Amino acid sequence: MEEQAHVQEDLASLADLDEKSLLESLTTRFSHSHIYTYIGDILVAVNPFKQLPLYGKEVSEKYKCHEKRALPPHIFAVADRAYQSMLGRLATGPKNQCIVISGESGAGKTESTKLLLRQLMELCRANSQLEQQILQVNPLLEAFGNAQTVMNDNSSRFGKYIQLRFQNSSVKGAKINEYLLEKSRVVHQDEGERNFHIFYCMLAGISSQDKEMYGLLDPSQYRYLNGQFGQGDMVQHWSEKYNEVSNAMDMVGFEEQEKVDMMTILAGILSLGNITFEPTENDALKVSQTSQGWLKATAGQFGVQEEDLMRCLTCTMSVTRGESIHRFHNQQQAEDARDSIAKVVYGRVFGWIVSKINELLTHKLDANVELSEIGILDIFGFENFSVNRFEQLCINLANEQLQYFFNHHIFLMEQNEYKEEGIQWETITFKDNKPILDLFLTKPIGILSLLDEQSAFPQATDGNLVDKLNSKFKANPHFEVVRSHSPLFTVVHYAGKVQYNASGFLEKNRDNIPANIRTLFINSVTPLLSVLFAATISRTGTLMPRKAKMVNFVDDNFNSTRKQSVGTQFKHSLAVLMEKMFAASPHFVRCIKPNGSKLPDQVDSKLIMDQLRYNGLLETIRIRREGFCWRPTFKEFAQRYNILLLKPDLPLDKESCMSILNTTELHDYRAVSCRKKYLVLLAEVKRQQQAQREREERE
Ligand code: ATP
Ligand code: MG
Repeated sequence: MEEQAHVQEDLASLADLDEKSLLESLTTRFSHSHIYTYIGDILVAVNPFKQLPLYGKEVSEKYKCHEKRALPPHIFAVADRAYQSMLGRLATGPKNQCIVISGESGAGKTESTKLLLRQLMELCRANSQLEQQILQVNPLLEAFGNAQTVMNDNSSRFGKYIQLRFQNSSVKGAKINEYLLEKSRVVHQDEGERNFHIFYCMLAGISSQDKEMYGLLDPSQYRYLNGQFGQGDMVQHWSEKYNEVSNAMDMVGFEEQEKVDMMTILAGILSLGNITFEPTENDALKVSQTSQGWLKATAGQFGVQEEDLMRCLTCTMSVTRGESIHRFHNQQQAEDARDSIAKVVYGRVFGWIVSKINELLTHKLDANVELSEIGILDIFGFENFSVNRFEQLCINLANEQLQYFFNHHIFLMEQNEYKEEGIQWETITFKDNKPILDLFLTKPIGILSLLDEQSAFPQATDGNLVDKLNSKFKANPHFEVVRSHSPLFTVVHYAGKVQYNASGFLEKNRDNIPANIRTLFINSVTPLLSVLFAATISRTGTLMPRKAKMVNFVDDNFNSTRKQSVGTQFKHSLAVLMEKMFAASPHFVRCIKPNGSKLPDQVDSKLIMDQLRYNGLLETIRIRREGFCWRPTFKEFAQRYNILLLKPDLPLDKESCMSILNTTELHDYRAVSCRKKYLVLLAEVKRQQQAQREREERE
C-alpha cells in the first residue's frame, strides 16, 4: 500500500482525494524523499531540510523539453513548462508567464526561486554575461534583504517579483520589484534573531586595513547588532559570504566607488546606533558625553557636519508661515529620531541597489522589440503572530490578493473550461475572498483609505483610528470589534482570524522623513547619500534618483513628488502586480514546511495541515472532487487504453478515443465531453456504484 502511495505523482487524479489522503500521500512521498508532488497543475514542494541529489546537471538536462507525465514532479518541470508555454510550444494562453511561489517562512520559497532561475538560464542556454549577472542578483539581494529569524536562518525580509525578459528564446534583461523591506530590523531584533546578513559579512570580510578606512570597530561594540556576532566557523562563513557579495556586485556592474560608499554608509548606521542622550543643565537634551566619539564617527561616515547631525537628533524643525520653529526632543523622541534615520538610510540603500540592478540588467533592451516575460513571485506567506502590526496587515493583504488570483485561476478558469467544452454542470461554490479585499481596498472607505484619512491629521492617534474602523465596519462580516484598552481590531481573513494591534499604524503609514534630515543628507559629501535623498520614491515604491541616468526604467514607475503613504504605495504596487499576473499564464508552487524545527526527516502533521488550509489546497481538492478530476488529452487516453481494443497502433486521436469508449466497457469512466482539447471524464461513476452497493447492503 505504501509503495503505491508514494508513486502517485499527481494527486488530482486520485478519485477519492480528501484531506486525510492528501496529507497521507504527501507525507508518505516525503518519507521516500519525493519532496515534489503535483495536484493538477500545482506543484507542492515539501522542504527536505537536507541536500538531496535532485538538482545535478543530468537532472537539469532530463527536464528540458520533457513531457509532463514522463518524469516525476520537479521544480525544473515548472521552469520547463513556463519556458515552453512562453515560446508557444504548449497549449494556448497568454505568452507571458508568471510563477507564484507561496508558503510560510522557511518553507522553501527562495530556494525554489533560485532553482527556477537556474533552470530557466539553462533552458535558454544564455551562457552570456547577462546570465551570470542574473544569477548574481539573488546573492546580492539576500545579503541586504535576508536575516536570521527564529523561523528561518536565511529569511527574506522583503518580497520580490523577478521578471525575466525574453526575445524569442533568449533572455535579454531582468527587472525586480521589491515589496515592504522590514526596515525595523536594522534597529531592533527579537530574541534569537539577527540584523541583515550584510552587517556580519562586512565585519568579518573586510580587511583590517579597509576596516580602518571605514571606521569599523569590533562587532561586539555595536548596539544594533545586539552583541551577537559569533566566532571561528561563523566568522569564516560570514567572511566567505562577503567575498561572494563583493564579487556579485562586481559582476552585476556596481562601480568601486559605489561599493565603498555603500559600506561607509552601513558603517555609519552602526555608529549611529551607539549614540545615546542625556539632559543638559537647563532641561534640554544633548548627545551624552560617552557617545561623543560615536557622533563624530557617524558624521564622518555619513559625510555630514557633526553639529547638523546633532541638531537632527535633538530637535525637530518645522516651517510654519515662512517661520522655522525648533522643538526640542525629549529622551524618547531623540532615540526615535536616531532609529528612524538608521531605518530610512538602510531602506534607501536597499531601494537604490534594486534600482541599480534594474538599470544594469535592462539597459540593453531595445524598446522597439517585442519581448515576452517570465515572472517569479517570492513573497511572504500569511502571518498570524501573537502581536500583529502594520507589516502583518500589509503582508496579509498581499496574501488575500494572491489567494484571490489563485481562486480566480483554479475555480473560475475551471468553470470556463467546462463552459467551453459545453459540459453541463452545477456551479460549484467556492470561498470567494473578494469581500475581504473590498474591506481593505474599497473607495471611498476601506481600511487603507481610512488609515490614510487619519494619517493626514497630525493630532490623530492609533486609538482614534481603531474607533473609526469600529464604527465604519462593525457590521462587516469580515471585521470584528475588540473590546480592549489597547487599539485592537480583528480581520476575518480567508486563512483565519487575525487580531491586529494598531499601535504605530499611523506613523508607519506616514513614514515621513523630516525636512531637516533630508536636507542633512542632500548636503552630504558622500555622493551616494546625497543621491539617495535627492531621489523621490515612485508610486511603486522604487527609487527614482534625479541625478542618475535611468535607461528603460519601465512605465509602471511613476515619478511623484507628492509623498504617498506606505499603505497607498503598497496598494498601488499590488495593483500593478495583479494586472501583470492576470494578463499572464500562471504556474503555482506551494511550499510546505514539514516541521517547525528546521530538521530533516521529521513530519508534524498538524503544521502541514494548517499550511494546506492557508494556501488554499484543501479548498482546491474539494473543488476537484466535485468537478471532473481526470482530464486526459486524447493522446494520453488512447495511449493508455488502446490495449482494450487490442490495437496498439491505433492513432492517438479523438476518433480512437471514441471507439475505445463505445466498443469497450470502461466502467470507471463516462465520457462527458470530447469536443476540444481532451476528454472530460467522470471518474465518479465507479464511486457512485460503490456507494449504491454499500447502501443496498446496509438496507
Ligand atoms: P522566508 O519566507 O523566511 O524567506 P522561504 O520560504 O524563502 O522563507 P527558504 O529560505 O527558501 O525559505 O528555505 C529555508 C531553508 O530550507 C533553506 O535555507 C534551506 O536550508 C532549506 N531548503 C529549502 N528548500 C530546500 C531544498 N529544495 N533542498 C534542500 N534544502 C532546502
Ligand atoms: Mg525567502
